[in-house]
Amino acid sequence: MKDPKSTSFFHCGYDDLQSRLACINPHDYDKTRNFLDGAVTWLSPFITHGIINTRDVANAVLSRHAKPKCEKLLFELAWREYFHRIWQNNRDAIFSDLKNPSVSTRMQLPSSLLNCQTGINVIDESLQQLQQIGSMHNHARMWVASICCNMGNTHWLPAAKWMHYHLLDGDLASNTLSWQWIAGTFSNKRYFANQDNINKFSKSSQHGTFLDVPYEAFENWQIPGVLAETDSPDLQQTLPFEALKNIEPISESVALRSVWHLQKEWQPTATHQWIFVDTEQQAQWPMSYKRWSFIKHWASFIPGVRFVKGTSQELAKKLGAADVLRQEYTGCNHWSPQTEERQWLYPDPPKPYNSFSKFWKQVKNDD
Ligand SMILES: Cc1cc2nc3c(=O)[nH]c(=O)nc-3n(C[C@H](O)[C@H](O)[C@H](O)COP(=O)(O)OP(=O)(O)OC[C@H]3O[C@@H](n4cnc5c(N)ncnc54)[C@H](O)[C@@H]3O)c2cc1C
Repeated sequence: MKDPKSTSFFHCGYDDLQSRLACINPHDYDKTRNFLDGAVTWLSPFITHGIINTRDVANAVLSRHAKPKCEKLLFELAWREYFHRIWQNNRDAIFSDLKNPSVSTRMQLPSSLLNCQTGINVIDESLQQLQQIGSMHNHARMWVASICCNMGNTHWLPAAKWMHYHLLDGDLASNTLSWQWIAGTFSNKRYFANQDNINKFSKSSQHGTFLDVPYEAFENWQIPGVLAETDSPDLQQTLPFEALKNIEPISESVALRSVWHLQKEWQPTATHQWIFVDTEQQAQWPMSYKRWSFIKHWASFIPGVRFVKGTSQELAKKLGAADVLRQEYTGCNHWSPQTEERQWLYPDPPKPYNSFSKFWKQVKNDD
């Protein structure tokens, strides 16, 4: 297997993806998931962009391993589904403090995070990997989010936009709600980690950093010098796609995709295959050049596909007479009526569930 910390790991082909699914070892995953060098799958960019889905991952492990052995991986896949159900039920409210008001108020990020110079080696290396490759281990994300919001007093929203921009798997539900969970606006308490915790899960032994303190120190925390200076990240984006306004209205069938739905074998008989780039949404949640390269690489497997950009109003005008095929996705519900449900691992979650543990308790016995 190629190194998951390289661009080529993500710019692979469908055969490589199948091999990776076949290699997942749920036992090793269970034992090592929280360690930076643990046996995690690194599949999230493919899941986020709808190249494979959570059900594909679950089926791949359940076809080779007994269900109890797969429980930890199924549990983590359920987190993704839970976040997407929360988004589906709350719509744009997830982009504001969802349960509790934020105690962190700065609207810029610590410059040392943006420059990968916090002085904590593991954090700085993870930040470089984020900016160069677009990937970051879950535990590193938790540490970075905690440093940013809970130790640096930054509100989670600008920080979530920054991370979403760089991540290949940047996902409006998982990213936003994870940041809110760490910042205590979507959880009952804020998440803190000290240097001992970082050393344990990164197998390192650094000391003398601003986090080399006991947990009690977080009760009367003052922003440390290294996090004092702030800046706004540069989140430039180019969208070199055909503008909808230059395209003639369509009257045939159109398989209308978003960048969140790049599965190659979907509605292959439609006359037109479009990936619509919603310029208003992109302006709110921009994506890096490497993220767009990833999207274009995977879109190239869809025969006859065409990227078009514009607003949802322009889209409605161009497709007014067309037979539009579209899979449900919360971020695209304002585009056109959906014609099919997306594939969930847990298709009928019982309601209400106002915590992940309640959600998991109810869905874990589904097949
Ligand atoms: C601050 C922060 C921001 C995050 N932003 C994103 C994001 O933009 N997109 C995203 O997909 N995940 C996000 N996560 C969740 C998690 O970090 C990633 O899903 C995970 O690191 C992806 O790596 P993997 O594919 O190797 O995961 P694995 O551990 O191999 O898990 C398999 C799959 O299960 C799902 N999954 C695993 N853990 C989680 C989790 N905690 N929450 C939701 N789904 C999970 C993912 O789809 C993942 O691909 C974020 C977490 C934090 C703390």
